[in-house]
Amino acid sequence: MDRVDSSTSELCKQKQEIISEVKKVTTISQEKAQSGVGVSYANALKGIPPIIVRPKNKQAAEKTRVDLNKIDASDMKIDRVSNKNNGAVVINANSVSDKDRIKSALADNLNKEVYDITEPKVNTPKILLAHINAEYSETEIINKIKAQNSYLNDASLKCVKIFKSRRSGEAFPSFSAIIEIEHKFFLQVLESKRLSIGWDRCPVYDGQTVRRCYKCLGFNHSSNSCNKKLRCSKCMGEHKSESCTDSSQKEVCGNCCDAVKELGLNLDVAHNAFSRECPVYIRKLKLEKQRVGC
Ligand SMILES: [Zn+2]
Ligand SMILES: [Zn+2]
Ligand SMILES: [Zn+2]
Repeated sequence: MDRVDSSTSELCKQKQEIISEVKKVTTISQEKAQSGVGVSYANALKGIPPIIVRPKNKQAAEKTRVDLNKIDASDMKIDRVSNKNNGAVVINANSVSDKDRIKSALADNLNKEVYDITEPKVNTPKILLAHINAEYSETEIINKIKAQNSYLNDASLKCVKIFKSRRSGEAFPSFSAIIEIEHKFFLQVLESKRLSIGWDRCPVYDGQTVRRCYKCLGFNHSSNSCNKKLRCSKCMGEHKSESCTDSSQKEVCGNCCDAVKELGLNLDVAHNAFSRECPVYIRKLKLEKQRVGC
């Protein structure tokens, strides 16, 4: 029973962490979208895929740019052009119709023997709905969102996951849901901050998260497939975080220590590995968001 209890409390803790992390990231991504930075993520949210011009044989990106410059771009609305590995160039357009026009101009003018022009699939964004105070099925949640929030009547929504959580001091558990939502509604829903479900006005957060291993606290694998040592989030020791006996107030993040050691980065390591300020976590989340975008 002990194991179950501790894993339940661990799950609650994870969920609280995820919620506070996504809150922060939501603010950052909204700020970025407003300030015009982070175009590719903002475009991904609008459902505009980037265009990738990739040379079949490795060459400098400057060479790719020279070939691109031969094409008249005067009437194309381009948000951003960036260089990638092996000479690839990524083009972010202003709208889906601009993206289509740019793509066909590239297809007409670039040598097909030399370049591949591709358009990666843009993944569906996710929202996290918290504090649902009744137990609904996935279908009930979707139906209630559509019925009670008029602008979403015809939206295409999919409930990916529902999980139970009990916050300290609360007599009854509440539920949270992760929901896939069309690009065109995503920012609107985040800006509205809440959605009505049954008798509740549930807070909405960006549901994009990074997968984290709860054994070693590393990213993008699960504890089931983890071949690293158990690691404490506070002191890096080989024990569970909740059984940490380190009484000093100092915390040290194992992920950041690894990055300092293995990559020679100059990072502040004095924080809990679950901290939303952790530079390695922020980096992983950024990469995950780019994966949604391009
Ligand atoms: Zn691990
Ligand atoms: Zn410890
Ligand atoms: Zn860290």
